[in-house]
Amino acid sequence: MKIVLATRNKGKAREIKEILKDLKLEILTLDDFPEISTPTEDGKSFHENSLKKARFIAGQLNMPALADDSGLEVEILNRQPGIYSARYAGENATDEENNRKLLAELKGIPLEKRKACYRCVIAIVLPSGIEETVEGGCCGIIALETKGAGGFGYDPLFYFPQYKKTMAELSPDIKNRISHRGKALAKLKKKLIAIFNP
Ligand code: IMP
Repeated sequence: MKIVLATRNKGKAREIKEILKDLKLEILTLDDFPEISTPTEDGKSFHENSLKKARFIAGQLNMPALADDSGLEVEILNRQPGIYSARYAGENATDEENNRKLLAELKGIPLEKRKACYRCVIAIVLPSGIEETVEGGCCGIIALETKGAGGFGYDPLFYFPQYKKTMAELSPDIKNRISHRGKALAKLKKKLIAIFNP
């Protein structure tokens, strides 16, 4: 059974493929369909955006589509950047630019007030009309400087006091077990087994 991930984000695709690898699904991404554009993410929540992306791609390709919408909510910034995480420092911003902006916004704020949570909603949409969503979260602290080379996005700034490491310093195995995406995908796996019985 083929399923397409509605993303061109290589970090997300790598993590999703790794976590779902034992399901014996053939997992494609939008890099396999260069001609397909992605819809504008103009929803007001991770939930709306993930469903919009999965519906659009399932409709365009007439295939089961899975979409992740995720981001970082920083408590003292009124849960920003939230759904705007990918474009925090501007349209087409790089991860480095987004991290620099986040550090600038938090300048002078002490560690105990830098609580943040990653959120992830994953939607699966089948051409038959079946739709499911699952979500996961994971909380930590925004560090004072970047550290580590793993993961992607805000991971070099996302510090876990219990591991004394940033998300970018953790092994992929540990990140996939404790992350917002890992938690959402653990729930999704059960639904995929029920839908596809792969
Ligand atoms: P989306 O593609 O609109 O869902 O945006 C997701 C953005 O949220 C990414 O580009 C990152 O900036 C951030 N993000 C989501 N998940 C993670 C993660 O696991 N690590 C680091 N940053 C993440």
